[in-house]
Amino acid sequence: MLRQNHKKALQHPIFELISLAAKELGLDCYVIGGFVRDYLLGRSDPKDIDIVTVGSGIELAQQVASKLEGHPQVSVFKNFGTAMIKTKDLELEFVGARKESYSRDSRKPVVENGTLEDDQKRRDFTINALALSLNDANFGDLLDPFNGLADLEKQCIRTPLAPGITFSDDPLRMLRAIRFAAQLNFTIQLNSLEAITEHKERIKIISGERIVEELHKILMSAKPSKGLALLHKTKLLAFILPELSALQGIEEIEGQTHKDNFWHTLEVVDNIADKTDDLWLRWAALLHDIGKAPTKKFHKRIGWTFHGHEFVGSKMVYKLFKRLRMPLNEKMKFVQKMVMMSSRPIVISEEFVTDSAVRRLVFDAGDHIEDLMTLCEADITTKNPRKQKKYRNNFKIVRQKIVEVEERDHIRNFQPPISGEEIIRAFDLKPSKEIGIIKDAIKEAILEGEIPNEYVAAKNYMIKKGISLGLVLNEEFE
Ligand code: ATP
Ligand code: MG
Repeated sequence: MLRQNHKKALQHPIFELISLAAKELGLDCYVIGGFVRDYLLGRSDPKDIDIVTVGSGIELAQQVASKLEGHPQVSVFKNFGTAMIKTKDLELEFVGARKESYSRDSRKPVVENGTLEDDQKRRDFTINALALSLNDANFGDLLDPFNGLADLEKQCIRTPLAPGITFSDDPLRMLRAIRFAAQLNFTIQLNSLEAITEHKERIKIISGERIVEELHKILMSAKPSKGLALLHKTKLLAFILPELSALQGIEEIEGQTHKDNFWHTLEVVDNIADKTDDLWLRWAALLHDIGKAPTKKFHKRIGWTFHGHEFVGSKMVYKLFKRLRMPLNEKMKFVQKMVMMSSRPIVISEEFVTDSAVRRLVFDAGDHIEDLMTLCEADITTKNPRKQKKYRNNFKIVRQKIVEVEERDHIRNFQPPISGEEIIRAFDLKPSKEIGIIKDAIKEAILEGEIPNEYVAAKNYMIKKGISLGLVLNEEFE
């Protein structure tokens, strides 16, 4: 093999320092994995650096920390034999070179000390097994026993060992393969792809958190459909997101068909990826139609319907997040809201757009109105240029109306112009249901456009409404 040297990759002073620390301990050490791969690909300078040493990674980390300014703390993960140091701009991960063997039912290997090559063998892909020497004798030399460099050039994802072994040992690697294919726009070597399909069921032993980490990365890639289509092709999708695989397929009854909502969803996700880097809006695009599988019905007269799919879909979001152990926080509520409201702008754009419909949309969407419009525009996937133009134009009109109505009525963060206390004072009330009724009536009148969103108008309306409910106005009330 031709000797290749990449000293240039190691200009950061940290490498010199690690090299010296290793020499003091009489250890050999190497940079390995993502840092080397990304350097060779010319990708932006990575912040996390993996160091492997033929010896104790923990001892090396401690030696390195003692030489660093401020003696940063070393986080030791004894069970894994790894240690981590965080500096201002870097995250350094240290591990001792090891040999691994796995049992069938777990990702936890039996570990023994090994050589650099043993360690490279246990890495997931050849492009992630590339190492650069930090040792004086050959500082900067590329150590590439599995031809990872050639695979980088071929843009190919391949396992160092037989793929069946690599994937079965640690099924998370199946998702990593697809994630790297999506992130780097690489191809998974055919043998590896077949092995993934064969071992797909093994994904069951992987925790929701690890799965989600990879899904996030697939969704954040430039063209997420690439990764999602691979999940579908290998049938991993049915294990990790069955709600989505259920959308695949077209049924025909009496000559009537519906669109394939899975492939449609993939287009929507790509569309939205062109518009936003917001992970959760991308999730919303991915899940916006999941309610369509359980609500699908055929009616003789009207054809295929998906009544209430938005509501059903938003309930499914909760279950899906829970199953994958995603946090059930405001991000989830945001996704639910987007799914729930995903047809609203479409409905109003199809009809003559009334101000009150726009006010209600803005009221319900609140600060998420922009995101909702972005989602709806991404949802346009028709290949008919005339329809495409019409839909886009309709949304333009809705957007204009939103601006107009917002300038006039300030509905976005609606604060009731009349407080409950004021209603209590006006009619000398004890806490009672009338207060709620009047408050609601004022809100409705504003949204309907009967009265402007202003104090005086709302106060007069309150008086009128109270009297109509048989309440008596307090004489002292101004
Ligand atoms: P990125 O940080 O951009 O996601 P990376 O390749 O650095 O990519 P990490 O998860 O940081 O990925 O892992 C660092 C290195 O550890 C990888 O390059 C690979 O060599 C090895 N590695 C990580 N996870 C696995 C795994 N499940 N099986 C085998 N090797 C792995
Ligand atoms: Mg990394």
